[in-house]
Amino acid sequence: MDKATLARIKQQLEAERATVEQRLADQGATVEGDQIDMPQGGFADSAQVTAERSELLSLVEGLQQTHAEIVAALGRIADGTYGRCARCGKEISPERLEARPRATLCVSCKQNAA
Ligand SMILES: [Zn+2]
Repeated sequence: MDKATLARIKQQLEAERATVEQRLADQGATVEGDQIDMPQGGFADSAQVTAERSELLSLVEGLQQTHAEIVAALGRIADGTYGRCARCGKEISPERLEARPRATLCVSCKQNAA
């Protein structure tokens, strides 16, 4: 992958990370580096989970998952392993990565996994 493409993808990931962190902050979470802290007592008492709260919980879990994927992708960019398929080790096409910067599998592994 050429440097310009990688730089675009990195920018995209950083923008997405900022969006996700903002949405987590909107839910009362604190984001510090890669660490996400949920509000004290906010999600812990499962006995009191109403439909609304469990919806909120799954939203936050989804955001945390997305955040972890973005952090992992940025980590791979930093250590130079970005763009390699986690399963077969081949290079993932830049077109696929530009469309899905968080992808860890090449198209054929993805299809085989599905
Ligand atoms: Zn693969």
